[in-house]
Amino acid sequence: MNEFDVIVIGGGITGAGTARDCALRGLKVLLVERFDMSTGATGRNHGLLHSGARYAVTDRESAAECIAENKILRKIAPHCIDPTGGLFLTLPDDDLNYQGTFVEACKGAGIDAEIIDPREALAMEPSANREMIGAVKVPDASVDPFRLCASNLLDAKLHGATILLYTEVTGFIMEGSRVLGVKTLNHKTGEEGSYYAKITVNAAGIWGMSVMEKAGITVGMFPSKGALLIFAHRVNRMVLNRCRKPANADILVPGGTVSIIGTTSTRVPLEECNNPQVTPDEVNLLIGEGVKLSPTLAETRILRAFAGVRPLVSSDNDPSGRSISRGAVCLDHASRDGMEGLVTITGGKLTTYRLMAEMATDMVCRKLGMHVRCQTAWTPLPGAEGHSFKETADTIWRTPANKPEEPDIYGDALVCECENISVGELEAAIKHLGAGSLVDLRRRTRMGMGTCQGELCGCRAARILAREGLGDKALSDLRSFMAERWKGIYPIAWGDALREAEYTQWVYKHVLGI
Ligand SMILES: Cc1cc2nc3c(=O)[nH]c(=O)nc-3n(C[C@H](O)[C@H](O)[C@H](O)COP(=O)(O)OP(=O)(O)OC[C@H]3O[C@@H](n4cnc5c(N)ncnc54)[C@H](O)[C@@H]3O)c2cc1C
Repeated sequence: MNEFDVIVIGGGITGAGTARDCALRGLKVLLVERFDMSTGATGRNHGLLHSGARYAVTDRESAAECIAENKILRKIAPHCIDPTGGLFLTLPDDDLNYQGTFVEACKGAGIDAEIIDPREALAMEPSANREMIGAVKVPDASVDPFRLCASNLLDAKLHGATILLYTEVTGFIMEGSRVLGVKTLNHKTGEEGSYYAKITVNAAGIWGMSVMEKAGITVGMFPSKGALLIFAHRVNRMVLNRCRKPANADILVPGGTVSIIGTTSTRVPLEECNNPQVTPDEVNLLIGEGVKLSPTLAETRILRAFAGVRPLVSSDNDPSGRSISRGAVCLDHASRDGMEGLVTITGGKLTTYRLMAEMATDMVCRKLGMHVRCQTAWTPLPGAEGHSFKETADTIWRTPANKPEEPDIYGDALVCECENISVGELEAAIKHLGAGSLVDLRRRTRMGMGTCQGELCGCRAARILAREGLGDKALSDLRSFMAERWKGIYPIAWGDALREAEYTQWVYKHVLGI
């Protein structure tokens, strides 16, 4: 029961993709995640399926990786991708000469970048700044990171992988200079465990460096915090970028029912990575720069702020981390550090996760002496068949496991009006996707992510949890769910947002006693 071919540490997109790839190649896989899936950078990013254009001038290798993967993901995960297209705007403050360099670099990296008339750009994207002096169209898109991660984990499971959530790797089982497996602690039951495998893959994102320290190995990483703001409705149809070298707050991504402006890049200490905070200065900067891309943001309600930490591989001479390559890094610790049975996969982007998983799995197979071809570049993820992003959203189910078994009138009833989520979908997420709390449900279904921020759906979903046998903690769960939502509202709580937060608090306190 405790023996596997490969153990993957981390249930973010890199770990999920690696577990899937390994399972598709016939390996017996265990994935161990200390919290829930997508709790690290995977659930705290911009949701931009990069065309690579952003990196074309400064990081050609990463740009080429992005466009190749952008094309693949559109085929294997159409249910996770909204093919919005993107525009790179040159504003009066920017140098129009950069546009030529940018388009040349895009072409060099294989990205289809087309200069268009600013009037045409405005017709395509009415929310864009009318003052723009130049525009370039690129194949950017918007991607749902939660759905993508869930689909990968589901497929890994369907191919025999074991997934342990809320289980932390606390140490390695070692014999001399070989890793034989991992020691774990289950945070829900307090149970300790030992699992053995020929190869262990470290896909623990920015925490990968502390995980590796447990094996006496140093991996130099650069924890780069990025802050973002979510606006209460979908302001833009297309992804809007500034046509200049990557800088702060220069991308506005439409995602589902909302729009997200970001981001910043600041080195933070490792201790801050578990709970990265958004500062008032960052909020001001994001609004100030965002308004330049799309002036309508000045009048749009802000829903919440959040931050994530990028798992970049270290560079000592770049204080912000902006110039560190976003390319993927795959390390064989046998040749690098003399430690057999251990591999690290890190760096990269959400957009390039599949490639990263392929790199890691190729290395695992090489080390096991196996010759099995990677299939993930053409094998659709569960939920992909015949379903576009819009259809998936409209038919109220996200992955096959979320599909209610026997839809009925009760099952079809809406719980979350903002994100169009039914009772049946929540029930299925509890039964088949291991959701044990409201926050787990949010990650699997988007419940509470829309305009009301859980104000309306939180209580209804708590009742469904109770009905499914999780009643003893439904109330405390509702409290932590609202507290989690509050964390994101706090940094933007002034004016109308503050008034609304007060109102919500009264409702919860005086109507519900919470
Ligand atoms: C602000 C921001 C914006 C971004 N925007 C974009 C974008 O628009 N497009 C794009 O393509 N990319 C974007 N990225 C990059 C992208 O989010 C990351 O590259 C990607 O999500 C990394 O995934 P990961 O699985 O490697 O790491 P993570 O998602 O961080 O996953 C690591 C997991 O390991 C787990 N873990 C840690 N320690 C242990 C342990 N001891 N035992 C078990 N589990 C453990 C963690 O809980 C975590 O879930 C952005 C990143 C940030 C921070």
